[in-house]
Amino acid sequence: MDALLKEHFGYDEFRPMQRDIIENVLQKRDSLVLMPTGGGKSLCYQIPALKFEGLTIVISPLISLMKDQVDNLKTNGINAEYINSTLSFREIDEIKKKIQRKEVKILYVAPERLALEDFKIFLTTLQISLIAIDEAHCISEWGHDFRKDYRNLKFLKNLFPNVPVIALTATATLKVREDILKQLSLKEPKIFISSFNRKNLNLIVMQKKNVFNKILSLIKEHINEPIIIYCFSRKDTEKIAQRLNENGFKSLPYHAGLSNEIRKQNQELFIKDKVNIIVATIAFGMGIDKPDVRLIIHHTFSKSIEGYYQEIGRAGRDGISSDCVLFYSKGDKRKHEFFIDQIQDEIVKNIALGKLNKMMVYCENTFCRRKNILRYFGEFFPEQNCQGCDICLNFREIKKSITDKSLIFEKIKEVKSYDKILFEKLRTLRRKIADERNFPPFIIFGDISLREMSMYFPRNDKEFLDINGVGQRKLNDFGNLFLEVINSYIKENNIIPEKFHRRNHKKRVRHLSKNYQKTKEMILKKIQIEKIAEVQELKEGTIINHIEKLIEGGEKIDINYLLPSRENLEIIKSAFKKIGTERLAPIYNYFDERYSYEEIRLVRAIIKSGNYSEEISEENNYYKRLEKIKENFPNAYEPWKTEEDNELRKLYLVNTPIDEIAQILKRQPNAIKSRLGKFGLVGD
Ligand SMILES: [Zn+2]
Repeated sequence: MDALLKEHFGYDEFRPMQRDIIENVLQKRDSLVLMPTGGGKSLCYQIPALKFEGLTIVISPLISLMKDQVDNLKTNGINAEYINSTLSFREIDEIKKKIQRKEVKILYVAPERLALEDFKIFLTTLQISLIAIDEAHCISEWGHDFRKDYRNLKFLKNLFPNVPVIALTATATLKVREDILKQLSLKEPKIFISSFNRKNLNLIVMQKKNVFNKILSLIKEHINEPIIIYCFSRKDTEKIAQRLNENGFKSLPYHAGLSNEIRKQNQELFIKDKVNIIVATIAFGMGIDKPDVRLIIHHTFSKSIEGYYQEIGRAGRDGISSDCVLFYSKGDKRKHEFFIDQIQDEIVKNIALGKLNKMMVYCENTFCRRKNILRYFGEFFPEQNCQGCDICLNFREIKKSITDKSLIFEKIKEVKSYDKILFEKLRTLRRKIADERNFPPFIIFGDISLREMSMYFPRNDKEFLDINGVGQRKLNDFGNLFLEVINSYIKENNIIPEKFHRRNHKKRVRHLSKNYQKTKEMILKKIQIEKIAEVQELKEGTIINHIEKLIEGGEKIDINYLLPSRENLEIIKSAFKKIGTERLAPIYNYFDERYSYEEIRLVRAIIKSGNYSEEISEENNYYKRLEKIKENFPNAYEPWKTEEDNELRKLYLVNTPIDEIAQILKRQPNAIKSRLGKFGLVGD
């Protein structure tokens, strides 16, 4: 096998997973392979094809690529051919004869060919050793790229029950995965999921304002490096390419409206580094395998996360750090909707709309992009900070100085930056305490608290209490431990902590206007918002506004009776902790509209009330909460044992419902899900 690899492909080593996959195929077992673009999928069927005696059939939707793929194999000394609509009847006939003479090892065909009766009959006369289905996600309506012709592949297993099938794709969510297995009726398939994380890609989302100037600045940062700019329309590609040329940056357009020759020529010039910028519609890139694209710009956001990930998959295939910048504006939604509206099939249309929505949520969210994308593909990303997205790197656009020749975004030096070394020390301490008590660390203190500690250096109980998330009970339980670390750090490093006066909520609203006063009184009487609004002849939103202001002003009003339920309160709070309290929309979207804006606003008010709310809602409750959870699920938050993991996998594989698994393993259903996620077994 290694000899074949070296001989035909020039590689010394297999990439992760390739060997396992190939061995599975050689044992004539079915496989489903999920691997990101550039992961080396094709080798997984090409090597077995060389080992097997008969013919390997490769089904691929990319007719434009077939010739290149076949040429490429031929130059590697492998007898490959393709049959598709670009060939004449006579050419096809000749290839068929070659196949019958067993002079061909690998045959590429498009899926529509398999619908032809005489072609099917032709296939049955051959000795077929392996069927490879590339871009397998095309078979699923749940994918972003559904192709009706792929449904023709259903019959393959009936026709060739003993021939192993390998289905491959670079983009498949859990739903699509299941659909592929079902549609192809694979027999006890082995599923190979390699991580979809592309560490070297920096994922950046920017506001689509002043976009051309921003593009210029980005290009200047990547001077002479291969760059692809994806546009929505042919017109955009032409226009931007022209403007870039006017500004002294050599660039070429690429879109389906150009003649074949021009397209081919432009592509060649790009591949050969004669022109470093190509401005294209998303059609560009399917047929190229250029490893050193350093910057991919999306002038308009993609219509789905799958699509986006596939497009940026063309950057940095060599593993070197590359940037992917997407320009986002809500207004661009209409462009996509126009096309989605043309879809006849209602189901397909709705799926497309759902995907568009998810893409927009991705752009608007304010938590790690990588985590977000990987979660979409059912993969759990364990790191807190990916070090490679605008959120984690804390990029902020410099909006005004666009004309400035300098960088258009820079890593902001946080005005209130925290001491990272102290932060790490506190994290270590937190982990230690959490381990001792078998708690998840965030129950001790959230990161926000630790950051504040490493920013404000509290030295005594009083100052410690001023830290976000510290209440009396936590002060009693953990104060000494944390203060000890902080104080010795202050001493070692001669730090002079500034006086901090963060708790502006302690300043009361001086003159409560009549309306505010009324709202306050009614809240104290625990009257529902609806009623308060009615009495005051104001909108409910205004009343919520009052409540927010009152709490910010330090009024001690208890609004817990207005909140959905303790459980929901905690759920929403934890989302705020993750995403931040600045904007409501991301939280709203995060829950897929499960909670109303009003509920979310109220929870935010509680959080903003700081100490007070921490005391009420968290401090008094977190032990109780934990005890309560443990009543039902005694193993909750305990470390996982190997036997448990094995049991978990077994239960999952025989399709035991999550809730049942939770009962058996005595852990919470969410814990079960996330554990499965770690094994790549279950998505959202
Ligand atoms: Zn990130």
